Amino acid sequence: MKAFVQTAVGQYEERDLPAPRAGPGEVILRVRAALTCGTDLKLLERGHAAISLPVTMGHEACGEIVEVGEGTLGFQTGERVVPGISGPCGSCADCSSGSANLCAAGHSDRTWGAFAEFLRVPAAVVRANLHRVPDGLPDEAAAFLDPLAAVFHGWNRLDAPAPQTLVIYGAGALGLLWAASARPRGVGAIVVGRHAPRLEAAARFGAEVLNVDREPPAGLGVDAAVDCTGDPRVWERLPSLVRPGGRVLLFGGCAPGAWVTFDAARLHYSEISLIGSFHSTPEEARSAMAALASRDVDPRPLVTASGALSDLPRFLDAQRRGLGIRYAVHGRLEGIGASLPPDET
Ligand SMILES: [Zn+2]
Ligand SMILES: [Zn+2]
Repeated sequence: MKAFVQTAVGQYEERDLPAPRAGPGEVILRVRAALTCGTDLKLLERGHAAISLPVTMGHEACGEIVEVGEGTLGFQTGERVVPGISGPCGSCADCSSGSANLCAAGHSDRTWGAFAEFLRVPAAVVRANLHRVPDGLPDEAAAFLDPLAAVFHGWNRLDAPAPQTLVIYGAGALGLLWAASARPRGVGAIVVGRHAPRLEAAARFGAEVLNVDREPPAGLGVDAAVDCTGDPRVWERLPSLVRPGGRVLLFGGCAPGAWVTFDAARLHYSEISLIGSFHSTPEEARSAMAALASRDVDPRPLVTASGALSDLPRFLDAQRRGLGIRYAVHGRLEGIGASLPPDET
């Protein structure tokens, strides 16, 4: 099969690999649609301690089951599904306390390698975190399950009480998914960013927008603020944007080794809460799939262009240069003409 393989930090290539076969409890998907994600670029640029190279790239995909391994329960060939990344064990202390997103076993064999014709779904993911796609939901939209589930996890971390007003700092795909999911919850969202097309997309999702270059946000007095940049300087700025008693959700992942410094008086006297947010649980993925199916959240405006798997290099290059938001590559049966938008940053 054709696959895009990261061979070293900063290097990847198209290779002909043997198609994966389903081990016990596993399924093999024919990839129908896979999305580019900032994480793919981060891994390409700096590698990751937990991912050994070479590795087939890509992790957000919708596919059709073409092989079912021995002993796999509940799934059949021909079904359209989206796999979560992790397969929580369901029995450890994290899983038992409602934090299946943190289950270490669940992260030991992850769904990875979506920029290929076929994708192996680990047995633990099949058991706990493989989701059927309802009829009528397009492949491209369904493939947003993982990032939307992460956003839903963030909403749950901010719950009790739910915020009425929220600053979303960063207008990339994740910031826009936050914006798209704020309206159905009745939350007033302000998206802070700098690229006009992305801010326009945020406005179409019903958010107020602030261009950080023209109008640095200050003293907004909102209930909560969420970082969608992974920039330590933004993390440090967010406590000043929320009201006394407000909450800051540290959602965007910073580079390994990053440190942050906060104004101790602000955190103490104004009782600002700093809340971490990582990954998602299978339950949150189910909620995300329901929101996609009902069109409560429609992520399709985030797909800047679609193409074939062979278009991946120019899509990754465009994303690296900050052009567009996300790109979708389709399996051969769905190959459609690829087009890139004109430069728009
Ligand atoms: Zn991703
Ligand atoms: Zn567990």
